[in-house]
Amino acid sequence: MSDSFKALQIDKNDDGQSVNFVQLTEDDLMEGSVTVAVEHSTVNYKDGLAITGKAPIIRKFPLIPGIDFAGTVLSSNHDDIAEGDKVILNGWGVGEGHNGGYAERARVKGEWLVPLPDGMTTAQAMAIGTAGYTSMLCVMALQDQGVKPEDGEILVTGAAGGVGTVAIALLAKLGYTVVASTGRVEEEDFLKGLGASSIINREELSGPAKPLAKTRWAGAVDAVGSNTLANVLSQMNYLGVVAACGLAQGFDLPATVMPFILRGVKLIGVDSVMCPLERRKAAWQRLAQDLDMDKLAALTSHQPLDNVVAVANDLMAGKVRGRVVIDV
Ligand code: NDP
Repeated sequence: MSDSFKALQIDKNDDGQSVNFVQLTEDDLMEGSVTVAVEHSTVNYKDGLAITGKAPIIRKFPLIPGIDFAGTVLSSNHDDIAEGDKVILNGWGVGEGHNGGYAERARVKGEWLVPLPDGMTTAQAMAIGTAGYTSMLCVMALQDQGVKPEDGEILVTGAAGGVGTVAIALLAKLGYTVVASTGRVEEEDFLKGLGASSIINREELSGPAKPLAKTRWAGAVDAVGSNTLANVLSQMNYLGVVAACGLAQGFDLPATVMPFILRGVKLIGVDSVMCPLERRKAAWQRLAQDLDMDKLAALTSHQPLDNVVAVANDLMAGKVRGRVVIDV
């Protein structure tokens, strides 16, 4: 069997960034204790930024992008991982400074890999992907802070995107009443099918925020940042909790301290990239248990590796609904 394999590679020279499919061998991969036959990857917002070059995500050239993958271990020098194991990788700088998931082979540190939970397929793991795993971290953050279904409505911003759709499905299954904020109001039926009880137009939240507004939310998962997060903070109930993970509107936060000092509002930051292994494993176990796999299928589409650049462009143009699995 030839050990050459197909990979998407991003390179950079004085003329700018180029993105091409190439044939590589395992010698071209970076250091790591485990080599994986990649079965599926996905396209996250960060992958869209990397492939389109809209933000300096890639820190080494040439590099295989793709911040996620799931597959089967081909060889391992790591004590806890054996040949044939099914594994998931999210983050750790893979697809940024280390070769990533848009290739038939990947080599990474064994301690970066999470075992695939029982009952979950590698395709389902990538339908979840970093976006869905981040949604789970956000939901866990709300629960850690004691937000309960009976406390009131939970707002999800960026609702029709990857983080938003999975957050809605998770929260609804856990019994929370979920309100979805979206710019795609035509997706109302889709979002309600996932478990949203109602939707609001994201324009209600996108303008400059008042220090305090009428209280409305017991909790919120925010994938949008900027004015949207500032408005969400100003509308939180007394002791309300916001889990903030994204910057789809912008990385600024034009807010005041008033929600914190007059209403005891809590703003919890969520990072998926360097999240410690034990919390990752807990999040993936919770996803296997708390995510309705039929709903996941309803928000997932599949594309071959050849189409990954087109999907990344669509994602950046806000044309992708839910999650896209890349069949490697
Ligand atoms: P998607 O592109 O799938 O979804 C983002 C959604 O945000 C869009 O679908 C849209 O929702 C909304 N949106 C886009 N532009 C704007 C805008 N200008 N104003 C208001 N809303 C907007 O991305 P993901 O769901 O994968 O990621 C969401 C965010 O979370 C990104 O910023 C990403 O970088 C971040 N992220 C952070 C992680 C972490 O570790 N902290 C991990 C994963 C993601 P709609 O059409 O419904 O309005």
